[in-house]
Amino acid sequence: MESDHKKRKKNQPLSLGITAQGLPLSATLAIDELIAKKKQTNDERLLHMGFGESSLPLHPALRKALSDAATYTRYGPVRGILELRQAIASYLGRTRGITCESQQVVIGPGSKALIYALLRLLEGDVLLPSPSWVSYAPIARLGGKRVIPVQTDPEDHHTLRAEVLAETVRLAKKDGANPRMLIINSPDNPTGGMFDEEDVKAIAEWARSEGITLISDEIYAELAHGWRKHVSPFQFYPEGTILLAGLSKTFSAGGWRLGYAVLPATETGEKVINAIRALGSEVWSTTATPIQKAAVEAYSPNKSIEKYVKASAKIFGYTTEELYKTYIDVGILCARPAGGFYLYPDFEPFRKALEKEGVRSGKELSTYLLEKWNIAALPASAFGEEDAVLRLRTSTNTLVEPGNVHTPQEREKALWRILDEVLEDNFDHDFPILSFAKERWTKVIKHLTNKR
Ligand code: PMP
Ligand code: GLU
Repeated sequence: MESDHKKRKKNQPLSLGITAQGLPLSATLAIDELIAKKKQTNDERLLHMGFGESSLPLHPALRKALSDAATYTRYGPVRGILELRQAIASYLGRTRGITCESQQVVIGPGSKALIYALLRLLEGDVLLPSPSWVSYAPIARLGGKRVIPVQTDPEDHHTLRAEVLAETVRLAKKDGANPRMLIINSPDNPTGGMFDEEDVKAIAEWARSEGITLISDEIYAELAHGWRKHVSPFQFYPEGTILLAGLSKTFSAGGWRLGYAVLPATETGEKVINAIRALGSEVWSTTATPIQKAAVEAYSPNKSIEKYVKASAKIFGYTTEELYKTYIDVGILCARPAGGFYLYPDFEPFRKALEKEGVRSGKELSTYLLEKWNIAALPASAFGEEDAVLRLRTSTNTLVEPGNVHTPQEREKALWRILDEVLEDNFDHDFPILSFAKERWTKVIKHLTNKR
């Protein structure tokens, strides 16, 4: 006889499948939505450091290209339009010394969607540095993969070391896993770190010797702050590296949803592209054609767009470095950022004082900061670290806000003035919210120090 419970379940008009049960919203998007709601009901000044995106004004050439392309209303090719794939291949050659052809490039609706396709389609389990970007592990699980964390050392700026990789693989295999790919991200989200050339060579060499695919997420490559050069493993290990990037960060167009992947120029590389095409053809059909047309402009030679990208990198470098200096001055541990718009401060020196405030974990720390100090940041656990770790990811992109503006038009004008000044090196550093952030963090630490 069927139990009442079973009968009721069977007759439910709507119920979730196993994959969806307990599937949370991605931590980044969840905090962004929470803060948007909080802002509506809270007059107090909120420091939103929980979400990373570039919200600099769109370059006018891209705006024009998109509006000119509005009439491309038909579906396009699944792998992306040839014009764009060609533009990306020559862009990578011109700007990064990466040799590739248009047939190695595949376009998708955001690099996130392409990461999902890859993790769904490639064979084997995923090696993931700890910490690493919030979405890799959930995407890997959605793709049916086992996630194998690779430990990094905060004192070594969370750099991946070949010895640690080798030992992790040895133990994982012993445990029945089948590690076949490693995701790396430089500049890194959440740490702001970048590999130097030697690091990249060592990782590429190790991956080649083990037959591991390197999935190299280079979405922040153009936003290197200037003291460390971005180096791609694609240069050293072209037969085993998949390079991923897109419009979101470099061209301040996250909402446009356009990413790309470059696959090796091998028979298997082509098979992987065909598999992504097959998956894409069933899930997203094509990436919006007007956006692809506008992206051609972004990746074609254009002095003004190149200057804009350089200026964006300088601005994010400036605000991130400034906040980093405050962290160091007040006694927070933090590695120097090299690219992107993230810092990964460690509050371990304040553990005792935080305990007196009822804070024992990274999650409790982020709740405490939000409730008591109006600071939104994501805990280390969202990036795959242990709960007890008192590190946070603070994004610095929201500090790039001009003061004394009242309308979106005034904001845009002020930001263009700043972008121009940055290029001429006479930037007056006028970000009131950056000063506010420095003051607020200093206050938090003063309060904690008095508790010690
Ligand atoms: N990788 C990293 C490390 C990111 O921070 C982001 C931004 N969310 C992405 C990939 C995805 O970018 P998109 O899907 O907008 O191309
Ligand atoms: N890249 C952003 C972040 O890590 C958010 C966008 C997203 O997660 O898709 O905060």
